[in-house]
Amino acid sequence: MDAMADILVIGSLNADLVVRTLRFPAPGETISGEDLAIIPGGKGANQAVAAARQGLAVTMVGRVGNDSFSPTLIQNLQNNKVDTTCIRVDESATGTAIIVVDASGQNSIVLSPGANGKVTPADVEAVSFKNADMLLLQLEIPLETVTHAARSARQNGLRVILNPAPARPLPDSLLADVDILVPNESELGLLSGQQVTDVTSAKAAARTLLAKGVKTVIVTLGSNGALIVTDEQVQHIPSFKVDVVDTTAAGDAFIGGLAAALLKGKPLEEAVRHGNASGALAATKFGAQPSLPTQDEVEQLLKPFPR
Ligand code: ADP
Repeated sequence: MDAMADILVIGSLNADLVVRTLRFPAPGETISGEDLAIIPGGKGANQAVAAARQGLAVTMVGRVGNDSFSPTLIQNLQNNKVDTTCIRVDESATGTAIIVVDASGQNSIVLSPGANGKVTPADVEAVSFKNADMLLLQLEIPLETVTHAARSARQNGLRVILNPAPARPLPDSLLADVDILVPNESELGLLSGQQVTDVTSAKAAARTLLAKGVKTVIVTLGSNGALIVTDEQVQHIPSFKVDVVDTTAAGDAFIGGLAAALLKGKPLEEAVRHGNASGALAATKFGAQPSLPTQDEVEQLLKPFPR
């Protein structure tokens, strides 16, 4: 399969099944909630849509199940101009996230990986990396597949961005194939084995990952924006003040915005500002993929920073 894309995303597609309730049920208890919302999600698909809405050509590689959720997920990607020809239909269930949101906006999530757990190194082999410039990876598919994809991308001259979420320990061999690692504070804490509570501790923890061969670490800091850490540079880029509705997919929006800006040739600091704008805007809307901003929306928010 030949991907005619600026960006390849090899990762997860999930159906987010969301119900709002007044409070969380206790074990053994049944409570009533509002109407079910079925929302396209999964970190891989979210980042694919986030980048495509910034005007990039994106190809998604992954697996969905042979059930009623998969056509919705594929259609939604196509509506966002993401190439879906490298998505396989599997005999397992489509990945789902069962999400309960209480009246205070807290959520509680059960993730069922389903077909995402079946994405293999052979799936990666079936995709041509020839025409792409960048690969986006997350950790909602098997680690051996992520590792294989990063190595193949490196060999084919693609830039590799890894969002190490959900957090888990990673082999040094994978980190050595990563150009830009984008953890949030808790992911950085787990990867470095150091406590991350502020900019100073984030800087120290990020440096331990540079020592393992990552070229650039960008730590996302929620409402505080993001921190760039390289061998030569440490720079804090503040985010934008917004009215927060739901921060689901803010991290994915950040990565889509960052990747798109880098591919358009923007310098790193400016690309991180794009990431911040994209993440902040996603936090102003409910849900995963429906909350991801367009290029125009991001540019409006960035207007005070012309270039
Ligand atoms: P994750 O959602 O992966 O935990 P973060 O919470 O760090 O990641 O959010 C990712 C990015 O989204 C941040 O770096 C920031 O740019 C933006 N963001 C997230 N929450 C807010 C917020 N409350 N206000 C403004 N920007 C936000």
